[in-house]
Amino acid sequence: MATDQVIIAGGGIGGLGAAVHLARSGVRVRVLERSPEFAEVGAGLQLAPNITRMLDQIGVLDKILPRSVRPRRLVFRNAESGEELTHLDLTDAHARYGGPYLVLHRSDLLQALLEAARGEDLISLHTDHHVTGFTDNPDAITVTCANGAEFTGRLLLGADGLHSTIRKEIITDEPLCSGYVAYRGAVPIEQVDRRAALDDVCVWMGPGMHLVQYPVRAGELYNQVAVFRSQEYLEGKQDWGTPEELDRMYSGMCEAVRVAIPSLQRNNRWPMYDREPAATWTKGRISLLGDAAHPMLQYLAQGAGQALLDGAALAKALPALGTGSWSLPALGEALGGYEGERLALAGRVQSSARVWGDIWHVDQPVATLLRDEVFRSRDIHDYHLVDWLYGPVREGQAPTRAPATPAGSDVPTPA
Ligand code: FAD
Repeated sequence: MATDQVIIAGGGIGGLGAAVHLARSGVRVRVLERSPEFAEVGAGLQLAPNITRMLDQIGVLDKILPRSVRPRRLVFRNAESGEELTHLDLTDAHARYGGPYLVLHRSDLLQALLEAARGEDLISLHTDHHVTGFTDNPDAITVTCANGAEFTGRLLLGADGLHSTIRKEIITDEPLCSGYVAYRGAVPIEQVDRRAALDDVCVWMGPGMHLVQYPVRAGELYNQVAVFRSQEYLEGKQDWGTPEELDRMYSGMCEAVRVAIPSLQRNNRWPMYDREPAATWTKGRISLLGDAAHPMLQYLAQGAGQALLDGAALAKALPALGTGSWSLPALGEALGGYEGERLALAGRVQSSARVWGDIWHVDQPVATLLRDEVFRSRDIHDYHLVDWLYGPVREGQAPTRAPATPAGSDVPTPA
């Protein structure tokens, strides 16, 4: 079998996105996914303008628009009192950053990427291929799968998620459990309590918890994500973040939040993990992208989007290597360009997501008063906290209103 240029371990949003980006810039790619089919969980996803702009460049935006919703506002409320504290005008955000703010079902994005990938002659897609190991030689890398298959390429990209097998070969760290757990899922819109505004993304912030709600699939489904800090986790229980704890955590919230909780699916829950930002994602002929490279808490609603940006950056860096043998020094230089574009920014998003979660989840009365007062007094046309993330700001738009915040104190969007 001919030597591939790039082998990608993992066919999630990050892996498929990178394959499409690379193929569009002339790089031959093989994607190895361990599951029997390419699939996503039954929940929603937010895509901010920094991501939709890029999806437009590979023709995927047009494919997802009919299945998406363009919310009018991103609204922050106090989950106990129900008070609306502030909002981000998402129509303005489109004009300011040159891309729509979309909410959609994860499967709809994955399907669009899969269709795009299937339309590319330079992409080979394999399911039921669990990457278990590789041998890194000076000239090439040979990847081994659990089913006995072997493939040889010039570069192996680990797009294998939070618990990445490939990452272990580059960085000796472990995922960090935040002690928070998420319950999520999309339900038919008819089941939704009509008090929720159906054209907003709503974030209800409470002590050690939050709830996010928004419509997906052109308004046919309503996505809800309830996230809370588990006391059971702190007590060291094996089975923590249980449905009973979910009910207890939300029982003291305002009625609009309480009525949402029974409609959450309870058969699955997601403990929330991230990792510290890494100093590099690359070693020899292997590199990382997406959650394998920079898993983050979901409070900025950027994990999948940042994974897609990795693919775009790789597609700028790798084609310069041409169709030859991709010598190690040349590959190292190209991957240096990739990291130069992505490493610091993705690390900033990882760090900022933690800060944002801490602000949402304050549980001391004085801190809550202060948070709410800061949110209330925000000028709704002030975008300085999101310009660094959603930007660049288009010409003719109002300049950023306040000085840029230092890295680590940025406080934008929800998941
Ligand atoms: P994954 O989605 O984990 O995909 C990895 C793939 O690799 C999987 O298909 C897996 O089966 C496969 N795989 C794993 N190991 C192997 C192996 N050894 N061999 C072959 N295949 C393998 N992001 C946003 O942008 N917007 C949001 O609104 C948002 N909301 C979120 C809400 C919640 C509650 C959570 C938990 C996350 C949210 N995220 C959001 C983050 C987003 O879901 C992730 O960042 C994104 O899915 C990462 O994509 P990925 O392809 O890197 O990894």
